[in-house]
Amino acid sequence: MLHIYCPHCAETREEEEFRPKGEAHIARPVEPEATSDEDWGNYLFFRKNPRGLHHELWYHAAGCRKFFNVTRDTVSYQIHETYKVGQKPSVTADKGAAK
Ligand SMILES: [Zn+2]
Repeated sequence: MLHIYCPHCAETREEEEFRPKGEAHIARPVEPEATSDEDWGNYLFFRKNPRGLHHELWYHAAGCRKFFNVTRDTVSYQIHETYKVGQKPSVTADKGAAK
């Protein structure tokens, strides 16, 4: 079981309280009328499925009911950091895990 730190509650809680909501940092096209069908399709349906570090959106369903981001290793399941939506991750694939 994962133990996840909620940046809103400032507490580490069990995984059962949370729901994963897919890839984080998905940007909606700025000009919808000028966006091609292919770009809309990519925005709506296609997500990264990396082996290694991944930025994910999670929801604290049985707690504060707020969304936040998690940087997690998809191989080891290790969570490197959690941060609020709108903030940038400090751990990225090119920087590696800061320890
Ligand atoms: Zn919370």
